[in-house]
Parts: sequence; C-alpha cells; structure tokens
Amino acid sequence: MDIETDAQIRAAALQWLENAKHRHPRGEIPAKDTSFHVFSPKHGNLTISAFTPTGQGIWKPRQLQACLSIVTSSKHIYEDLFDEESGVLSYKYFDGDYDHRYNKSLRLAMEHRLPILYFRGVRPGLYLVDVALALEEDPNKDGVLLRVLPDDVSLFMRGVKKAIEEPEMVMLRHSTFVAQRRLRQAEFRQRVMKAYSKQCAVCNLKSEPLLDAAHIIPHSQSGQPEVPNGLSLCKIHHSAYDQNMLGISPDYLIHVNSDMLSQRDGPMLRHGFQERNREKIYIPRKQSDYPDRDKLGQRFEEFKQAC
Ligand SMILES: [Zn+2]
Repeated sequence: MDIETDAQIRAAALQWLENAKHRHPRGEIPAKDTSFHVFSPKHGNLTISAFTPTGQGIWKPRQLQACLSIVTSSKHIYEDLFDEESGVLSYKYFDGDYDHRYNKSLRLAMEHRLPILYFRGVRPGLYLVDVALALEEDPNKDGVLLRVLPDDVSLFMRGVKKAIEEPEMVMLRHSTFVAQRRLRQAEFRQRVMKAYSKQCAVCNLKSEPLLDAAHIIPHSQSGQPEVPNGLSLCKIHHSAYDQNMLGISPDYLIHVNSDMLSQRDGPMLRHGFQERNREKIYIPRKQSDYPDRDKLGQRFEEFKQAC
C-alpha cells in the first residue's frame, strides 16, 4: 500500500470535512460540496471526490488502495445497522461478493486502521458525515463493524500519519482526554452548586437533581468550566437560557423574551418566566464566584439578536 499518498489524501479529506461542517452549520452537507483539492508529490494536483453518489456505498479514489468513504443512502438507512448509543455500525459488503475490489478496499482500511468518512443520507442529496474506524469483520463475513468517532476524536485523527503509525496511542490519548474532560465537568458542577448554595439562580428551586451547572459561554465556543462562566439553573431555565427564551444582562437582571411575555398559559409561564422578568438573579455569596459581566454581556447580545 502507498501509505504516503494515502495519508496525504486522507488528511485532506478530514480537513475537507472539518471545513464543510463550518460551511454547513447544521452538519447537513450537500452532495455538490463533496470534492476537495490536494497536492501529492507523486500524482501532482488532484481533485478528489469525498464520496460516490452512484450508490455502490464504498468509495475509493483511484490513487488509493484503501476505501476513503462509505455511504448509507436515505433509502437504505435501515439495511446498515447503526447503534446510536455505542456508535457501532454494521456495514454490509457491496453486492454480496466477498472479493469485490470495493470490499477489499474496506478490509484494507480496517487492517491499517485508517479513518473513513461515513456519509448518512438524511434526504436525497444531503448527508450527515462522520469519521469512522473499521474495527473488525462481521462474524458472518458479510460486512464489517465500524465505530463512528465523536467529533473530538475526529480532530485527533487529523494527524492521520500518527493514526497509521500508532493507532493505539491515538485512541489511548483520546480516552484520557475524554476522562479528563468528564472529570473537569463533574468538578465544575460541584463548584457551581456550592457557589449558588444548590439553587436555581432564576427561580431559587432547591432540588439538586433538577439543577444543572450551565455555561454562560458554551463549551463549543471555548467557554471554560469555571464558576464565573457558570450559572446554577434548573432544567427548565437552563433550557430556556440555551434557547435564548431567557437572557441575563451584565447587571444580573433576568430578561424574558417578548414571545414568552405575550403568551397567556398556565402557572409555570406566569411564575417561572413572566414574573421573573427584570428581577435580579440569585448571586453567589463570594465575589470571586460572581458570574463574569463580560461573558454575560457577550451572551446577552446573542439573546437580544434572537428576540
Ligand atoms: Zn429555575
């Protein structure tokens, strides 16, 4: 196998995916936006298609020996079994012919532990795309089992050469990374609960199982798990805050969006939202735990725009 060319094209494919997810924020990538350019010392300037729309399912550009992507079209989504919880996909071989070149290319990707792009059709011409790793052949020898990698592993996988040379190291580093992140999130929750004396900053509900440590600036926008970037909110107010139905201004005042203010329906809406409008949130005792005014302000701009 030409590992060098494979690594160049595969790295470019993963980069294409990352850029495509930015261009299409809902993650639904149109078939017409699936080609990318890459320079290979051996083959020169190449335009590569990330997948095949023709429907055979397994795709490899002619410069590669191992498969680059697999597709499950919206019509056939139930033929390939994807278990959302474990992220494991059982992918059937093409055409039932074990030694078909597409099937061989899929097994080659499995033997070398190469990341594969997994296209899932949501409707004709529109795909959700993830990175998957072929783990082993299906016991019935009629397909392979693949693990769909969470986005953060996909980022790790961008060092494709590293994944080829030391796949175990990449996975190990990732599991350490996930474990550390879980630990940081758990610590964050503990510190926020303590700072807010285990109550919702908006409605003062004191039932801990119903409380969340909410981020002011979300994790996805590099918000850190630190108390000044946190708010203790009950599930309802957390959800409302995340969806900009409720905002908190830098002067710690609650703002309920105009839609919610104009509705007339029931006690939760009245006590939980309308009567809270322009009230002050509950603030931690320690000044160092106060929610950061700049962060609140940044987040409040988003709320105002959504109104
Ligand atoms: Zn609440």
